[in-house]
Amino acid sequence: MTRGELGQALAEAGVPARQIRMRAAQLWHWLYVRGADDFDQMSNVSKDLRQSLGARYCLAGPEVVSEQVSADGTRKWLLRFPAGGAGRPVEIETVYIPEDGRGTLCVSSQVGCTLTCTFCHTGTQMLVRNLSAAEIVGQILLARQRLGDFPDADTPAGAIVPGTGRLVSNIVMMGMGEPLFNFDNVKQALLIAADGEGLSLSKRRITLSTSGVVTMIARAGAEIGCMLAISLHGVRDDLRNELVPVNKKWPLAELLAACRAYPGLSNARRITFEYVMLKGINDSLAEAKELVRLLKGIPAKINLIPFNPWPGSPYECSDWQTIERFADVVNRAGYASPIRTPRGRDIFAACGQLKSASERLRKTERMRAHAVLTETTGPH
Ligand code: SAH
Ligand code: SF4
Repeated sequence: MTRGELGQALAEAGVPARQIRMRAAQLWHWLYVRGADDFDQMSNVSKDLRQSLGARYCLAGPEVVSEQVSADGTRKWLLRFPAGGAGRPVEIETVYIPEDGRGTLCVSSQVGCTLTCTFCHTGTQMLVRNLSAAEIVGQILLARQRLGDFPDADTPAGAIVPGTGRLVSNIVMMGMGEPLFNFDNVKQALLIAADGEGLSLSKRRITLSTSGVVTMIARAGAEIGCMLAISLHGVRDDLRNELVPVNKKWPLAELLAACRAYPGLSNARRITFEYVMLKGINDSLAEAKELVRLLKGIPAKINLIPFNPWPGSPYECSDWQTIERFADVVNRAGYASPIRTPRGRDIFAACGQLKSASERLRKTERMRAHAVLTETTGPH
């Protein structure tokens, strides 16, 4: 709920008008600062009101179907939400990536995806439905609960978490789904995440990644104001049409024009361009040069993502040397271009590997997944 909706709910639960602001602030604090998941924990709220709210509303988060922890400390949760119009309960994945000094939560926006990027596992799962704002915020609350990232909570023994600062310090809308095809819910959830009296994540630590839904980029800038990432992956329309089919609707020239117009860009606030390294497909030095030319004038950083394989995926990851040479060209042109160390590949939590398919033979898939991984993880 937005603050306004919460006020409305309190009015309906019988709270007198003059108390609404105060009560809404109390609830907000319990939910987002203290991490309460039961009205009965709210000790400064009267018993009557707690009961009245408990009879009307539910604070339950998603059901945790599984939690996997990678050798590198990355955690992946398979989460189940009620049907919500999909006819049956739905499942999505959320990933936590601990690093030195920060902890990034990769959040899903849809169950499946309408788009069919050829290198992405999620793209092979048809869209089941959008996630609600509550289900998006619920992923953040759940991660913080499981990590013991609320006052009076304990971090699980042996968990790898950042040595300093908050355990969930950054949010990336880079899980399952295309966030700009679920704009209203994503917007509401991110504004709640950024609320200074609640979860209080700085908008500079919230990044929304899009495959290039050009018509919504300006609204994301104006109405959410978070950082932007673009899944670029190709520097020519013919190739990008194939890799990221949404390019047929909004080609590169339009996409880059929308990026140039994104509000608040500066050297300190850059757009991230994601570029997956596909062997023999998009990894030539000529393409590195073209990338630099295309991004001219846009405050940008370029994330080179080694391709992460999944069962049946039609590509291979570029050789490490090729990736380094590609990165050199980009670096020499003055762009930071970190090569993303794949995180959580052993539990299928890396970029582009997320998918849920309750109806499938999970065990067979897992076995095949294991075979693919042991074949291709190689030197990195
Ligand atoms: N749908 C949005 C958000 C997902 S972000 C988008 O496409 O931007 C996930 C990132 O991982 C995207 O940049 C996506 O293109 C990239 N990706 C997808 N499959 C991948 C794979 N197999 N290996 C590496 N990166 C992949
Ligand atoms: Fe959807 Fe993004 Fe995967 Fe493309 S890369 S299929 S837009 S989740």
